[in-house]
Amino acid sequence: MKFAIISRGDELSNRLKEELASQLIQSQCVEDQRNPTLVISVGGDGTMLEAFHRYVHHLSRVAFVGVHTGRLGFYADWRPEELKELVGFITRVSIDGEANMKLVAYPLLEVLVVHEEGHHSRHLALNECTLKTTEGSLVMNLEVNEDHFETFRGDGLCISTPSGSTAYNKSLGGAIVHPSLASIQITEMASINNRVYRTIGSPLILPAHHTCVLRPQNDVAYHVTIDHLTLIEKNVEHIRLKVAKERIRFARFRPFPFWKRVRESFID
Ligand code: NAP
Repeated sequence: MKFAIISRGDELSNRLKEELASQLIQSQCVEDQRNPTLVISVGGDGTMLEAFHRYVHHLSRVAFVGVHTGRLGFYADWRPEELKELVGFITRVSIDGEANMKLVAYPLLEVLVVHEEGHHSRHLALNECTLKTTEGSLVMNLEVNEDHFETFRGDGLCISTPSGSTAYNKSLGGAIVHPSLASIQITEMASINNRVYRTIGSPLILPAHHTCVLRPQNDVAYHVTIDHLTLIEKNVEHIRLKVAKERIRFARFRPFPFWKRVRESFID
């Protein structure tokens, strides 16, 4: 098994990274940062987001697993004291054949930013894409499946994946969506609603065969976030959002039920 480890960079995560690498190498696994089969993130969800974006062009060949060191760790199911057990599972899969590795695939969000000059850039988000501007309110026409739905005016919009629904989306009052539902969710940030301006005011959940297009109504620069990354986009003609054809795959060496994770992260 070829593996790569990404650490959050703090002392504990770096120490665990070293321990994990040495134990896996002793078990005949090979460290390969360029072309791994298994990417292990050691840190929190922010570290998993970094790991995802580092290997975003290898999604069909790579599986991810997370060890969490102290923070929320919604994507990370292994605790530091369980390192030996994790190494045992990885070694067993390595011996039995990687084809036997149990995987779960989660939907991703595709973001296509199309500029007035015709060129475009395509991005994949694991959590969400947000749109804001520092030049007044965000004013965007929102279309669903090519039909005008509303003109949004307010602080911003958040379009999230099911696994990202527990992140920024949740703070905005969005629903928590199980990752088995291939969908995207659109949530508003402080929309202006009065006699003049009107938006739906509720989060919208779109299925995989639906597309959302946002058309700027002002000629300003937009802050487009893709997970933890921020792009400044000018001369935007439209932004097209939908469930991506790619998925992220997580190695499941043992059960990790979504609703249990939700309860443990937000209630217990
Ligand atoms: P950060 O501001 O350092 O951390 C954001 C927090 O969100 C951390 O506690 C992180 O967990 C948690 N988180 C990330 N993904 C999650 C998920 N899928 N479910 C539940 N919690 C999750 O930023 P960051 O570490 O670079 O992460 C970027 C993310 O921050 C964005 O994708 C966005 O979702 C989130 N964010 C949230 C708000 C808000 O809620 N108002 C505002 C901006 C950004 P860990 O501690 O385990 O890393």
